[in-house]
This record gives sequence, C-alpha cells and structure tokens, in this order.
Amino acid sequence: MEITRRHLLIGAAGVGVTVGAVGALKLHWDGKSFVRDGYIEGAPAAPPGESSWMNWAGIERATPKQIAFPDSVETLADMIKTAPGRVRPVGSGHSFTGLATTEDTLLMLSSLAGLIAYDEATGEAQFGAGTPLFQVSEELAAYGRAFDNQPDIDSQTLAGAFATATHGTGNDLPALHDNVTGFQMVTADGTIRDVTRASDPDLFEAGKVSLGALGVMTAFTIRSVPAYRLKRTVTVEDSKAFLSRLEQTAAAHRNFEFYYFPHTGLVASIVHDLTDDPPTEDEATDDDEFLQGLKALRDQLGWAPFLRRTIARSEFPRGVVEQRVNESRVLLSTVRPTRFIEMEYHLPRERGPEMVERVMRKLDQRSDAYFPMEYRHIAPDTAWLSPFNAGPRASIAIHAAADERYDYFFSDFEPMYREAGGRPHWGKLHSLGRAELTELYPEFERFLELRKQLDPSGKFLNAHLAKLFGESFDA
Ligand SMILES: Cc1cc2nc3c(=O)[nH]c(=O)nc-3n(C[C@H](O)[C@H](O)[C@H](O)COP(=O)(O)OP(=O)(O)OC[C@H]3O[C@@H](n4cnc5c(N)ncnc54)[C@H](O)[C@@H]3O)c2cc1C
Repeated sequence: MEITRRHLLIGAAGVGVTVGAVGALKLHWDGKSFVRDGYIEGAPAAPPGESSWMNWAGIERATPKQIAFPDSVETLADMIKTAPGRVRPVGSGHSFTGLATTEDTLLMLSSLAGLIAYDEATGEAQFGAGTPLFQVSEELAAYGRAFDNQPDIDSQTLAGAFATATHGTGNDLPALHDNVTGFQMVTADGTIRDVTRASDPDLFEAGKVSLGALGVMTAFTIRSVPAYRLKRTVTVEDSKAFLSRLEQTAAAHRNFEFYYFPHTGLVASIVHDLTDDPPTEDEATDDDEFLQGLKALRDQLGWAPFLRRTIARSEFPRGVVEQRVNESRVLLSTVRPTRFIEMEYHLPRERGPEMVERVMRKLDQRSDAYFPMEYRHIAPDTAWLSPFNAGPRASIAIHAAADERYDYFFSDFEPMYREAGGRPHWGKLHSLGRAELTELYPEFERFLELRKQLDPSGKFLNAHLAKLFGESFDA
C-alpha cells in the first residue's frame, strides 16, 4: 500500500494522543515556558505621524518617518534625490536580518511590479523589481515559460530575492540571481542607470546580489526556460541509511533536499524530477499540521529523549509519503504559515555531508529543538557577493519558532559553520562583519569601493549594512 502524505499527518496527530497518555510522567518539564525573554507580539507602536514596520519573523522592527510607494521610476528618482535622511528599499520583508530596517524613509516598490516586456526570440522577460515571485511565475506561464528553479516560498519580490542570493536546490541549479541578464537602478544622486554585463561588467556582477546597498533596483531582465512539469516524491526514512547515500540521491534528481526532524533519527527527503505524466489531484498541503506534531512531542516529552524518539519512530510513517505531479511553479514553492527564525550557512559542497551530521547531532543535544533542519545543494555563479561564487555549496538551515530562543544559533552552530568555510545567507541570521566577509569573498573590498563611488554620503546605509561594511553609523 502506498503511504500518502495524509498518513504522515495522521501520524503526527497520533503523537499528540499518545503523548497525552504519558503526561503524568513529565513533572520537570511541566510549567516550562519556551517563550524567549524580550519577545514582543505584533508591530511596534509608531509615534504620531510615523509608520510602523516589522519583518515577517517579527525580529526586525522600525517606526520610519515615512513609508513611500513611488509609482514611477521618475518619482522614485526624485524621492531618493530629495529624501532628508537615509533611504532603505524593502521587498516583502522576508529577510531575517536588518538589511532593510530604517527609521527614516522606507521604500516599497509594489507599484513598480509586473511584466514590462517579453522577448519571444530569447525567452527573456523584463519585470518591475517589486514583482513577487509568484506573479513572475504566473506571467511567465502565460507565455509557456518558467523560472528554472524556485525557493521554498514565492512571496519574495524579485529585487529582495536577488539582493540576498535567494536560492532553491539542485546539484546543477544556481541561485535565482544567476538568471539576471540586466537591470535598471536608481543611484543615490537620482541617476537612472541601465546595466548589463556588456555595458558595465563590474556593476553587473556587483548588482546581481547587492544587499540593496548600491541603489534602488527598478526592473530586472531575466532568463526563463520552457515551462516544465515535475514529479515530487517525499520519503521518510531512517537518517543513518539516508545519509549513507546522500550524494547519490542528490545526483540522481533534478531538485534534491532533505529535512531532519530533531530527536527522531528520521529524515524526509524531497526530490523533484522532470516528467510528462499528467498532473495528479492536489491534496491541500499542510506542513503546519506536521510541525504541530513535532511541537507536541517536544512540549510533552522534551524531558525524556528516549521516549520522545521512540514514540516519534513508532508513530511517524516510513517510505514514500507523498507523490504529486504538477507544473514546476506549483510544486517548487509552498507556504509557511507558522512564523519562524532562521540561520542558514552555505558550506563548501564537499564539507556538506560531514557538517550536516554534526548539525543533526547538535540539534539532538537541545531538548527544546523541534523545528526541522533543511539541507540543500546550490550550483556556482559569478556574482561578487553570491555565497555560491567560485564553487558549489551545501546549505544547512536551522530554525526556531518566532517566539522562542535562537541565541544558541550563534553560540552552538555558527562557529562550526565558520570553521568549515561557510558563508551566511545574507537574508538570514549571522554575526559577521567586514573582516570576516573580506576573508570569505575575494571581491568584497571591490564591492565596498563601488558602493562608496555610487553612494558617497551613505544615503542607503543602515546599522546592519554599516556593520557588514565596517562603516561608522549615526542614525
Ligand atoms: C518563510 C521564508 C522562506 C524562505 N525560503 C527561502 C528559500 O527557500 N531560499 C532562500 O534562499 N531564502 C529563503 N528565504 C529568505 C528570503 O528569500 C530572502 O530573505 C529574501 O531576500 C526576501 O525577499 P523580500 O522580497 O522579502 O526582500 P526583503 O527581505 O524585504 O529585502 C531583502 C533585501 O533586498 C533589498 N531590496 C528590496 N527591494 C529592493 C529594491 N527595489 N532595490 C534594491 N534593493 C532592494 C532590501 O533592501 C534588502 O537588502 C525565506 C524567508 C522566509 C521568511
């Protein structure tokens, strides 16, 4: 009998029931609060006349003097030229780091969104920089085209996704920004510039992953591929058996990733392969229900690791738990209703298998950890600040619920990644500054020089960027 995704979810719900039966044994665990010190729910209160903003995870907060929505490139250029203080562009606010945070002018480019031009001959398409990825996919689909890869979710804007080197997974698939063939930007003095590799090779390679530090992007021209259909297979199995053939599994599939469920010894691999099979009836996906099963297990059995593991291993189904066929845009990105906080490091590919085992062991040492760890492969590219510049990488992402502790990401995990030559995801938590980044990126100092030329007064700086760039910063 085929084990369906529904079985997995039912398995998770079953854990809650079983756990309830042994509730009397967990005296020491009872009454423990997992909510971290200083956690605040909801957006910050803004003084009269100012606005309130926070990022998706709720850990970056600001009350900018204004949030502006320019409706043309010319209006934007004028705003940038005349803005009294600092200016930060923001996309969908899905970065976990303080890249976009400002108390002055926050720019949202939701009006500079949508398809601008499509070239039938090359398949290249130009989009407004504020276009969310899901809209890009829909507009490309109308022409029988698609992105060659997508991240886990598709609510990010093009500008936001490219600025932080957002990626999907697959041995031969680079991060999204590698599809950029040109862009338009407005620099700090209000100049509108159209950039391609031919027109300005340095600015092109610096601007693809810019951290929003070189100027405000208004449009991108991107490559697309003919629309394609994928078969998605999700398999739950013992982590030891899976890890022994990690490399072979990754090499055998177009898209490959896996999740480790802390304190269970179980992984779920997710692979996608090209297919001409007809689309399957789509069952509504609800990763949240499964996550709640893991949380119930932690909440109720965190004090008894052996029992926690034993129950998980007996309740969770094994084998293929999901098989679906659909267009790439439907399958590659899903939704994440439960908010979380994340650190992801991109390690030299050859260190991936060894490091992921260490990370799994470390997560199992923390009784409060329950969020799955994610492991992915990304192909190299040439952007100066791309973490995938000059070699393929293996990425390891750890998560905590939005209201729980995450300080241990820095103390217990980041040093291991650093020792292995890891580069952090620009949009996810890390503690690095100029000295470390200069060591990790051969072109980092060149990027800083270019930034200074384009923005000598630091109009686009904020506290986070100033730390990355080794600049002093007065708000
Ligand atoms: C639930 C969730 C799932 C995620 N999944 C993945 C994943 O699978 N893979 C992955 O790699 N990452 C993933 N991320 C991280 C996310 O893709 C990045 O943080 C991305 O940068 C967010 O895009 P955004 O549109 O929200 O941009 P923001 O976070 O709003 O901004 C990111 C950067 O872009 C800059 N920026 C925005 N607009 C402009 C503009 N017009 N011009 C110049 N700069 C601009 C900002 O200043 C900032 O520096 C995930 C994040 C979340 C919350």
